[in-house]
Amino acid sequence: MTKIQSVCVFCGSKKGCDPEFVLAAKKLGQLIGKKGLELIYGGGSIGVMGVIAEAVASSGGKVNGVMPKFLMDLEIGNKTVGNLTITETMHSRKEKMYEQANAFISLPGGIGTLDETLEVISWKQLRLHDKPIVLLDSNGYWKELENLIEKVVFSGFAHETVRDLFTLVEKPEDVFFALENVPSVDDEVLTSHLQLNK
Ligand code: AMP
Repeated sequence: MTKIQSVCVFCGSKKGCDPEFVLAAKKLGQLIGKKGLELIYGGGSIGVMGVIAEAVASSGGKVNGVMPKFLMDLEIGNKTVGNLTITETMHSRKEKMYEQANAFISLPGGIGTLDETLEVISWKQLRLHDKPIVLLDSNGYWKELENLIEKVVFSGFAHETVRDLFTLVEKPEDVFFALENVPSVDDEVLTSHLQLNK
């Protein structure tokens, strides 16, 4: 596996109601910075996004935000912390984030965070990438997603090995062990029902 030098973090453009979300983001950002890793993120200065960018930068890490033009005003693009790349579209933003990162980490967040998290899980299922995906389960935030995926498996819409496409951890300190110790997935089985017409 590629040595992890950059991590893409998906997280809320709001701070959420539970103070634990901000505390965990701060802690994770400090750890990313101290390890000298690069943070790739959505480029916002608000919500959990702003908290993690600030924590990484002030702990010595490199920060790389990627934001589409149309969101620059809405999300208050973070011009003071790290480097900010402006893209034409939402899709080119995601493309840039995904290609630059060696791994993905999801923190609590809203619909955008859900979309990005499910997208990288889905693309891993399709074998479009093979990067570690870790969900930081602050105060059990991601339990319902885990349950939903159990239901998807139980209902016959995905192979049981999809559970191994991502790892849930409880504490920011546990994220890095999980990134380095990704369960191996039987690739063939994940898409074995998608046969090419030969
Ligand atoms: P949210 O979790 O909704 O606060 O959004 C977190 C980040 O995801 C923000 O930078 C949003 O711009 C982005 N985002 C919001 N909606 C979407 C979406 N439908 N697809 C991709 N990213 C989104």
